[in-house]
Amino acid sequence: MAETGKRRISILGSTGSIGVNTLDVVSQLGGRDAFDVVAITGNANVTLLAEQAIACGAALAVTADDAHYDALKSALSGTGIEVAAGRAALIEAGARPSDLVMAAIVGTAGLAPTLAAAERGADIALANKECLVSAGELFVRAVAEGGGRLIPVDSEHSAIFQSLEDDQHHAVERIVLTASGGPFRTWSREEMAGVTAEVARAHPNWSMGLKISIGSASMFNKALEIIEAKHLFNIRPDQIEVIVHPQSIIHSMVGYQDGSVIAQLGSPDMRTAIGYALTYPERPKLNVERLDFAKLARLDFEAPDEVRFPALRLARTALERGGAQGAIMNAAEEMAFHAFCAGRIGFLTMADVVEDVMDAMMGHAATTMDAVFAADAEARRVADEIIDKREMAA
Ligand code: NAD
Ligand code: MG
Repeated sequence: MAETGKRRISILGSTGSIGVNTLDVVSQLGGRDAFDVVAITGNANVTLLAEQAIACGAALAVTADDAHYDALKSALSGTGIEVAAGRAALIEAGARPSDLVMAAIVGTAGLAPTLAAAERGADIALANKECLVSAGELFVRAVAEGGGRLIPVDSEHSAIFQSLEDDQHHAVERIVLTASGGPFRTWSREEMAGVTAEVARAHPNWSMGLKISIGSASMFNKALEIIEAKHLFNIRPDQIEVIVHPQSIIHSMVGYQDGSVIAQLGSPDMRTAIGYALTYPERPKLNVERLDFAKLARLDFEAPDEVRFPALRLARTALERGGAQGAIMNAAEEMAFHAFCAGRIGFLTMADVVEDVMDAMMGHAATTMDAVFAADAEARRVADEIIDKREMAA
């Protein structure tokens, strides 16, 4: 805590969907009276980044891309806000002393700056699931050795975190991740084959960034969340269930050995999970929509279909194989997502690309962070080749 008694916070990825919601929560919780914003970071949206920096009084604003440095510098000239750009500056944003870091960059780009925050002992509010999918135990260990807390922001993992009872880890039988099923929950593979990114990004319940929206449609997001859960909660893969729950009201559940199931429910609004991570173990007062059970009337459940959505099977395969398969799956999925958005491959081909890359890279170890970064880079190279071939064959 700063001498002023305010919580010092940095927000990596402040211009994204989670970042914007985080700043909303910060402002609901008292804004500058309650928080010192040490650093915020963005990428191409320099106008928003500059507006945010001024509004929250950030000490440092970083754009990930050197090409945007001049624009950010001029937008913040005369404000006294420090400006920086590039990879090293992103890491510096994570490394600067603060009490809590919101990790809300999308993709593997978030790993190095979040790691810098973890190593110096900051509490990590983790939205960037890719950190855990890629670096798994190494990331968890870095947080533990740094001495900070790892608090999940992903709604499912926040729900599980909230439903886990102290000292009862031995009594946990299973965790049940809920999945909305996305926009193609009831579609056949034939129907999904020709969809564009514009169609696939339209999530029925949540408003989110592009990658996670596409990942919800393909269920790759849930696949990453299975791996995220394994590392966060130190639980066996066979104890992790996925259930499709189209209303997204139950955010996830924990089943205990006495037959009890404890769940966390709420409106599909990320600010609840963000607020909890920012003030844990306190529950903050938040202006979010309250559940009206009479209006809801019913909650539905159905088993996930791993034939129409092979991503779920691939997550289980990655966990069984271990080593760097999480990093490989994560990198391949990111590449496949970009290729799909660029119209280079079809919606269903994303899973084929990921599976091919995983199969081509068996036996890669992930015993050090360098090995994880190397596997990530190699998986991107292999994915690139496979995408080229698939594109030419189409
Ligand atoms: P987004 O695309 O809306 O925002 C991403 C942020 O990362 C932006 O600030 C962007 O500027 C920054 N960024 C993008 N590329 C970058 C790069 N190469 N280097 C540095 N910064 C870069 O994404 P989002 O939906 O807010 O998701 C962020 C993370 O939170 C993801 O890991 C996602 O899986 C996770 N998450 C999001 C939600 C949600 O509701 N949006 C829910 C659960 C988990
Ligand atoms: Mg989620």
